[in-house]
Amino acid sequence: MTSEKKIPDEVLKKAAKTRFPTPYKKPAVERTAEEKITYVAERFGEIMEALGLDLQDASLARTPHRVAKMYVNEIFSGLDSTTFPSISFIENEFDHDFSNTNFVFMKVNFTSFCEHHFVPMNGTAYISYVPADRCIGLSKIPRIVRFFAQRPQVQERLTAQIADSLATVLDTADIAVSLTAEHFCVIARGIENENSHAITNVLRGKFQSDQSFRSQFFEAINRS
Ligand SMILES: [Zn+2]
Repeated sequence: MTSEKKIPDEVLKKAAKTRFPTPYKKPAVERTAEEKITYVAERFGEIMEALGLDLQDASLARTPHRVAKMYVNEIFSGLDSTTFPSISFIENEFDHDFSNTNFVFMKVNFTSFCEHHFVPMNGTAYISYVPADRCIGLSKIPRIVRFFAQRPQVQERLTAQIADSLATVLDTADIAVSLTAEHFCVIARGIENENSHAITNVLRGKFQSDQSFRSQFFEAINRS
């Protein structure tokens, strides 16, 4: 029997940061989550007033607070690197020869936010890797995707961050991530575009160098 081990903190820290970090600048004033909500709500209220909305209206009165709370606690919570999931693993006991042909494949739905317009991008992440020595619970993969999705993003960086983070967590070089997403900044602004889906791929290791791995990955996407 193998027992579960915890992935060391320094590895998780590296996995949360990746080599493609979000442009992040430490605020001049440190604020608690509650203080951030108050600060953002005041400014969002000013935006609404500038647009001519009546904040005395019962339906609108709480909107600044609601938006601020959603930004800080939910949709942009991934800006706080301490929210990266803690992950345990078991050592891979499967015959390594299997990894010549087999890989793990997973499909994960996500919602992120375009950092140019602060509106949603809705999509699906297709993730594949060849297990090395570590096996992690499949439920951890959607949590890692969500961590990077819950911040203002561009789809290319989101793809690279997921791939880089998983490579660190799984300690494998063979990883493939493909994202397809619908961008509301394209749809909502009525830009004429029959196909508003953008596709971004990051292929590494065998998925980059081996044609059969690559075609099996894209075949799995088509089957899913
Ligand atoms: Zn946009």
